[in-house]
Amino acid sequence: MSGEIRDVIIIGSGPAGLTAAIYTGRANLGPLVLEGEPSSTGDQPGGQLMLTTEIENYPGFPTGIMGPDLMMGFREQAARFGAEIQTVKASRVELTNGPPFGVWVGDPTAEEPTHCARSIIIATGAQALMLGLPAEERLIGHGYSTCATCDGFFFRDQDIAVVGGGDSAVEEATFLTRFARSVTIIHRRDTLRASKIMRDRAFNNEKMRFLWNSVVTDLKGESKVEGVEIQNVETGERTVHPFTGLFVAIGHRPNTGLFEGQLETHPNGYLKTVPGRTATNLAGVFACGDVQDDFYRQAITAAGSGCSAAIEAERWLEANPL
Ligand code: NAP
Repeated sequence: MSGEIRDVIIIGSGPAGLTAAIYTGRANLGPLVLEGEPSSTGDQPGGQLMLTTEIENYPGFPTGIMGPDLMMGFREQAARFGAEIQTVKASRVELTNGPPFGVWVGDPTAEEPTHCARSIIIATGAQALMLGLPAEERLIGHGYSTCATCDGFFFRDQDIAVVGGGDSAVEEATFLTRFARSVTIIHRRDTLRASKIMRDRAFNNEKMRFLWNSVVTDLKGESKVEGVEIQNVETGERTVHPFTGLFVAIGHRPNTGLFEGQLETHPNGYLKTVPGRTATNLAGVFACGDVQDDFYRQAITAAGSGCSAAIEAERWLEANPL
């Protein structure tokens, strides 16, 4: 590898990546952050909070804060301590023959990596799962969405639905009641998985309806959603409901494609780290945030693990000069 060898490259720019940038920046390691680029497949610089409305449980904001505002603050703080933030996506990494490690941006077949670093912090997060219906591709952005914050405004006074039974589904549905005439939660079981406070909020909201033991089997409409076919899983009966919007909030998949075959993962695809730490199976490579956390998945825990990754990287660099 030729060219400059940096101390640390951070891949990802959610709470984990940017906290790692703040800490490594403040430790004078001059981190390079590859923050990603927005894409139709769900990539989002700033991470999932960019698609979130009000965050009520991030400590230090007693009256709540909007997700994008919080992330803007993280970003500014990282830049203030000297982090170089590039709005590009890593297209390939070479972790097995390092350090130094290679990171490619653009053509992944290029012989030389675009950047090299002695340590890598992975904070690529996770992204929303979809239902896998054939009609999805046709109707995404036309009444079918995975982001209530982005699209809720377009459904003023309409009857719409949200698929899922966890905290995300209830949060999205509650948010959507600000705009819609009614919001129906479609859930495949007869009880919500969401936490009690969220459940109570939903049950007390007069605009909220529930379709239990139900799954979505098709979307109707050519250029926009005009109806949703729903099957009752107990009776097998299928009915088309005249919803004009369908939001999906059924969980997430970790963004690990870049590291396939190089880093160890758990059976569910999340990156494996040393328990209680951020070290991966490769020395000098650290992982933090949702890409390695299928349990807490909170902004605050992601930020905390970003801090841990930065401190681990800093100590590792000190102990392992090139
Ligand atoms: P989750 O808790 O895994 O819930 C996913 C929901 O989607 C489940 O109800 C699941 O059904 C359903 N589901 C999964 N695949 C489906 C499919 N193919 N078709 C239909 N339904 C499907 O995910 P989440 O709601 O995104 O929450 C993730 C984590 O973030 C949780 O720890 C949550 O507490 C946290 N979170 C917290 C907040 C907050 O505190 N403000 C907000 C959002 C998320 P089953 O119930 O049958 O499995």
